[in-house]
Amino acid sequence: MRIDVLTIFPEYLDPIRAALLGKAIDKGLISVDVHDLRDWTHDVHKAVDNSPYGGGPGMVMRPQIWGDALDQVCAGDPAPRLVVPTPAGRPFTQALAHEYAAEPRLVFACGRYEGIDQRVIDDASTRMRVDEVSIGDYVLVGGEVAVLVMVEAVVRLLPGVLGNPRSAAEDSFSDGLLEGPSYTRPEVWRDLAVPEVLLSGNHRLIDRWRRDQSLERTLHRRPELLEALPEEAFDKHDRAL
Ligand code: SAM
Repeated sequence: MRIDVLTIFPEYLDPIRAALLGKAIDKGLISVDVHDLRDWTHDVHKAVDNSPYGGGPGMVMRPQIWGDALDQVCAGDPAPRLVVPTPAGRPFTQALAHEYAAEPRLVFACGRYEGIDQRVIDDASTRMRVDEVSIGDYVLVGGEVAVLVMVEAVVRLLPGVLGNPRSAAEDSFSDGLLEGPSYTRPEVWRDLAVPEVLLSGNHRLIDRWRRDQSLERTLHRRPELLEALPEEAFDKHDRAL
């Protein structure tokens, strides 16, 4: 998978080369290019913003610079899927992470200030698939952190990135539920004991216990996830809960 990121703060993306993502780059599973948007400016101040039409606070990122940058970075075959982080976008979910993990090319366009002139998104949409995506109902200063979040969620789904592929398959959201609690040695820590069933060696009972924990946690913390699941997602033991 090829990933390009356009930003006015390339150094913000340095963590993309650390830890698991860095290993994925070293193994050749992904290639990442971070581009400085200011390379497409023509004035001495390398200005990327201007005041908003219609008035109001803040500044808006100028369309000419974004347009030229995207023309160059998105050129080539296949056309990439362009992802524009914005709090006004569709929610980023595990399902969308899976969709992105199947793409050969992703380009991320990091906004700053009040965001990017909307015509940049409208224009790009005539040539490629464009998603305006939000990582949550809060407002960040810029799109860089949102890109780190999305890239990490996507890249860990690629074959060969995680040591054990079962990890991703058993994570929260893979079956529509939150994952239950995890424990490791020692058996008792500060008078708190590991649930006995986990020491039983009985895998049928352990699986049932994990499923119940997962259902209970989801019911208490994210009931809307349970409501969204179809009837077939539950077995007769689940319904007894
Ligand atoms: N005026 C915009 C609004 O109210 O929708 C907020 C702009 S925000 C200060 C600047 C940039 O941060 C956005 O263009 C976007 O790239 C990024 N950003 C902020 N919050 C985000 C979120 N929840 N999800 C994704 N990107 C976000």
